[in-house]
Amino acid sequence: MIVVMKTSATERDIQDVINRIEEQGLVAHPIFGKQRTVVGVVGSSFRQDLADMLSAIQEVETVIPVSKKYKLASREFNPISTTVRVGDVVIGGDEVVVMAGPCSVENEEQVMLTARAAKAAGARILRGGAFKPRTSPYQFRGLGEDGLKILANARAETGLPIITEVLTPADVDLVAQHSDILQIGARNMQNFVLLEECGRSNKPVLLKRGLSATIEEWLLAAEYILNTGNKQLMLCERGIRSFDPATRNVFDLTAVPLVKRLSHLPVIADPSHSTGKWYLVEPMAMAAVACGADGLLIEIHPNPDHALSDGPQSLTLENFAKLMPKLSAIAQATSRYVGDSLTAVS
Ligand code: PEP
Ligand code: MN
Repeated sequence: MIVVMKTSATERDIQDVINRIEEQGLVAHPIFGKQRTVVGVVGSSFRQDLADMLSAIQEVETVIPVSKKYKLASREFNPISTTVRVGDVVIGGDEVVVMAGPCSVENEEQVMLTARAAKAAGARILRGGAFKPRTSPYQFRGLGEDGLKILANARAETGLPIITEVLTPADVDLVAQHSDILQIGARNMQNFVLLEECGRSNKPVLLKRGLSATIEEWLLAAEYILNTGNKQLMLCERGIRSFDPATRNVFDLTAVPLVKRLSHLPVIADPSHSTGKWYLVEPMAMAAVACGADGLLIEIHPNPDHALSDGPQSLTLENFAKLMPKLSAIAQATSRYVGDSLTAVS
C-alpha cells in the first residue's frame, strides 16, 4: 500500500509513519516528491487494520492499496519516471541513450576500434561482454577479468561509460569495480540470488527480459533488485521466444510503451538479440525509438564476419554511423534527442 502524506507533513511526521510501519515488521520506502512525500509499504499483502491505523494519523492524506503483485516497480507506487545516472548520461529523460559495442570483448584492438567509432557516431555508453553466457559450453565464453580490463582501458581513452554482463553473484564486486552498469542477461532474469546481489551494489543495473518471461515475471524480477535497495534500475526488451525460426526472437515492441505505463523504470530496447539479423537492426532500432524506448543496446563490430559471437546480428562500424542520424530524426519526432544535447541536430 502507499501512504500519501499531506503537503503540510514535516520530516518528523513522515518518520512517525515510517516507525509505525516498521513496528509491524514491514519495510517502508519513502519517496520524497517535489509536492509531497509518499511512503510505500512492502512486505505483505494489503492489510486493512494497518491501513485504518495509518489513515487515522493527522498528517496522512490517504492510504491506497497497490493492485499489482510488483510494488516498488509499479507506476502506482511511484508515478514519477525514474532517471538513471551514469556519469553525465541520464537515462529515462529527454535523451534516447544509445549503448553500442561488440557482443564479446575479443581483444584490445577490436574494442578500441569499436569504442572510437561508437563515440564518433554519437553513442553514449560502450557495451561488451567479458563473461558470456553461451548456449553451448564449446563456444567462446569471454575473456573474463582480462576483458573487463580492456573495457576499462577503452573508457579511459574515450570517456564512454561501460555496460557489461555479470553472470554470477560472486562476480558482482569484480564487474562493478571495472564497469559502470551491471547487465543481467535474459538467461539470468530469474536468478534471484544474482538479482539481490546486484540490488546490494551501488552500480546502476540493466535487467533484460527473460527468453520467455511474461511482463509480470519481468517486473517481479525487477522488484528483487529494488527491494534490496538499488533504485538505479532499467529494463531491457531483447525479444522473446516463439515458434518461428525466421528471426532469432520476436521483438516485443509492445512491451516498451506497455512497461512504461505499468512501471516508472526506463525501458531500453535491444534490436540486435531480438532480431538476430544485422539488416533488421536499423528498422527495428528506429521503431523502438518511435514507440518511446529510453535507449538502445546495439551490437557493432569492426568485422562482423569474424566475430567470436553474434556476428550475424552485428552492425559494421560504418552502418552504425549511418544509423545514428536516422535515430536522431525519429527521436526529434518524439520530442527527444540522440547523443550529446550540445551536438544534437536541432
Ligand atoms: C548480450 O547482450 O550479449 C546477451 C547475451 O544478451 P541476452 O542476455 O539478451 O541474450
Ligand atoms: Mn550478443
